Amino acid sequence: MVGDQGRPVPEKVVMIRYGELFLKSDPVKYHFIGILLRNIRQALGAAGHSCRFESPRGRIFIYGEKPDEIAGIVSRVFGVVGVSVCTRVAADPDALRDAAVLLAAEHLHPPCRFAVRGKRQSKTGMNSQQLGEYVGSAIYDAIPGLSVDLSHPEYELFVEVRDCGGLVYDSRIPGPGGLPWGSQGKVLCLLSSGIDSPVASWLAMKRGCEVSHLHMDGGRWAGGDVKTTAIENLRRLSLWCPGSEMQMIVADTEPFYDRMQELRIPPRLRCVLCKRFMLRAAGRLCGREDAQAILTGENIGQVASQTLANLAVISDATTVPVLRPLITYDKEETITLARKIGTFMDKPGDLACRAVPRMPATAATQDAVKESEEKLAIDELLDEVLARVQYVTAQNGKIT
Ligand code: ATP
Ligand code: MG
Repeated sequence: MVGDQGRPVPEKVVMIRYGELFLKSDPVKYHFIGILLRNIRQALGAAGHSCRFESPRGRIFIYGEKPDEIAGIVSRVFGVVGVSVCTRVAADPDALRDAAVLLAAEHLHPPCRFAVRGKRQSKTGMNSQQLGEYVGSAIYDAIPGLSVDLSHPEYELFVEVRDCGGLVYDSRIPGPGGLPWGSQGKVLCLLSSGIDSPVASWLAMKRGCEVSHLHMDGGRWAGGDVKTTAIENLRRLSLWCPGSEMQMIVADTEPFYDRMQELRIPPRLRCVLCKRFMLRAAGRLCGREDAQAILTGENIGQVASQTLANLAVISDATTVPVLRPLITYDKEETITLARKIGTFMDKPGDLACRAVPRMPATAATQDAVKESEEKLAIDELLDEVLARVQYVTAQNGKIT
């Protein structure tokens, strides 16, 4: 590339590091890298970037206009551990030195403690330490007033010699890590208007699962903002699988609460019965949705229905595996993660459940629960509810 004054402009490339995929055998690794590449292409395509890709050993390189924007998008793709915008030059110490001096002159202002980290993929020529020293002393000479500090630098610059060329960069944007989205099959997440279940959904996506959602709409039994907030959760989650559709089934569960009231089911059992109904519905829909597990935001001891005794009774409502990624999280930890991933809402609105009794059972028994479910004719009720479900779809942060 040639700049305005006829001088060559250094080529910029976005370098992607992926972590855990290294642990896989070669065929599995290449399969996963293929999915990761597809997801990266899709994310960039959804944002209107057209790019060129290279995937030499252990890295992915992306060439395109606006590399900083590309790096920002890719740093949200699951499976990506880190992203750097690099200057790409020949795999030669002098070319690396010149590019490093140029980059340092832009970002490194004296007095400043700096370090250069060298890295070589091949074993010929200078070793990594010598390369770092060679480039570091050139920067030291070119910019007066700097000092070298290898232990606690204020500014770090990296020079790498790889089989595919030389790279110079000074920032590493962390990615979410995990496994490429869609590499682990599908789960059905019970998504509420709360803080926990969107975080559970995100964590499953991070482990490579495609996630479909089910929201149980309690109608007049639910706070006025519950359904719209659950849809807002879906919208925000869809930003994490750009270019792909994300679905939510909405089931009208007002009849379930009505019937509990009509038949005078002991109010203390309501929460456990409600969660069992949700799992039954999810279990049935897993077949339709081709999902292999149910996902919830449940957590030990957070509310009365989440004692270990109740969780056991609740789990018994389905034979489909129930995944609870937040089971041991403190609420604060969940909130921190919700803020980080963008699902936390500062002004949540009316999300109260009108069916919650004053004294919910903390240890409901199987016998009591089954007796109530027989009275409720739970299977017929479920057929009724599932016959009338609706679908909401989100893509790229928009409800479509
Ligand atoms: P969250 O746990 O998501 O913050 P919450 O606190 O309102 O929501 P809990 O009583 O803690 O609800 O429910 C435990 C789990 O049950 C939720 O994490 C979610 O997976 C599921 N769940 C609760 N309410 C609904 C709902 N209306 N529709 C679908 N799933 C729900
Ligand atoms: Mg909760």
